[in-house]
Amino acid sequence: MDLLKVNFPRLQDDIETLAAIGRSDDDLGIYRMAFTDNDMQARAWLKSRIEAAGLDCHEDEAANIHARLAFDATRPSVMTGSHLDTVPGAGHLDGALGVMAGLECLRCLKEQGKEYSFALESVAFTDEEGRFGGMLGSQAVSGRITPEIIHQARDLDGQTLTEVMQRRGMTPMNILRARRKPESIQAFVELHIEQGPVLEQHNMCIGAVDAIAGLLRWNIRLSGEANHAGTTPMQMRKDPLQGFAEISAALPRILDENGSPRSTATIGYVNCFPGAANVIPGRVEFSLDMRDTDMPVLDEMAQAFRKAMSAIARRHKLMFEYEEVSRLEAAKCDPGIVEAITAISRQFGYHTMQMHSGAAHDCMMMAGITRTAMIFVPSMAGRSHSPAEWTPWEEIEKGANVLLNTLHKLASEAA
Ligand SMILES: [Zn+2]
Repeated sequence: MDLLKVNFPRLQDDIETLAAIGRSDDDLGIYRMAFTDNDMQARAWLKSRIEAAGLDCHEDEAANIHARLAFDATRPSVMTGSHLDTVPGAGHLDGALGVMAGLECLRCLKEQGKEYSFALESVAFTDEEGRFGGMLGSQAVSGRITPEIIHQARDLDGQTLTEVMQRRGMTPMNILRARRKPESIQAFVELHIEQGPVLEQHNMCIGAVDAIAGLLRWNIRLSGEANHAGTTPMQMRKDPLQGFAEISAALPRILDENGSPRSTATIGYVNCFPGAANVIPGRVEFSLDMRDTDMPVLDEMAQAFRKAMSAIARRHKLMFEYEEVSRLEAAKCDPGIVEAITAISRQFGYHTMQMHSGAAHDCMMMAGITRTAMIFVPSMAGRSHSPAEWTPWEEIEKGANVLLNTLHKLASEAA
């Protein structure tokens, strides 16, 4: 197969133009949270770029923006895309890379002037980063949104999704209509920065993602007895912070014994009550985030945590309660597409490895309705969700070239 190449100066220019939308004046990064003025400005700019490329521009009921080539609603689409929205204080590549590279690929495929077996679509998904819960647009397309989710969604300031969308002239309940029939999508491939240190550490240019980790998040509460720090003898205490420390120290062992090499467990939040230097704590609350690409492994790990916590709580005479606050199913990528990404990368002479994604992406939702895979490019020092986010331009070009040829191959397959 002859390899196609993107028009890199054109792509770089688009990425740089988008990066200026929502950038703070004091170098604290980019602020393009979903449905903010900055996000709306980026959306309007993207639409103008799609139209300037002579592609069809379609905004669906979940405010996802689609660039379309040879789309006629009778045959399925080979789809790519990512998100335009950012976390507060973001870098310039998370999401933006996949959207702009997707548009560049469609421009290149249009310039090929070839008749493809399938339509091509590049999507900018709404609210991936979670102002209103996360992956809103891709959840809508993959049919996971319910009226309750729309009704209850609100941001950290208490503004509801309903009022925010209405203010933008949109009809929130119509989000349900953005759902696509599985047979209308042939495949979905997302190009994204790795947001971790693995590719750089292995001196690799391209990661062919074979799975996206599932996630379990618990809120845990250990209750003991608040008491005087000076008068209560050590052996007569019910100190939940001592119990917490033992649980925290047990994480590596539980992962070794019950997890896989891809397992992670993180306590990212802990609060101690009442929180005074001369008071034995009466209560400790903390979070536990557990991930693996295999749900049975993840469930076994969770079971082991439950057992360890209850044994430790008993030993320290504590009460222990936990609540599952989220559960996201792991997604397996399509082995054929992963193989195609690997083969194309090798043909270019790019160093490539198969890996998994520890972070959730829109691709994870799309895996529920179609064949998917992801292409990762290295994140320098593993930095992301920060203005320090950086990937060298030559690595971005490689990722975009691999995406272009993957889409070309998928669109050329026999219908
Ligand atoms: Zn992202």
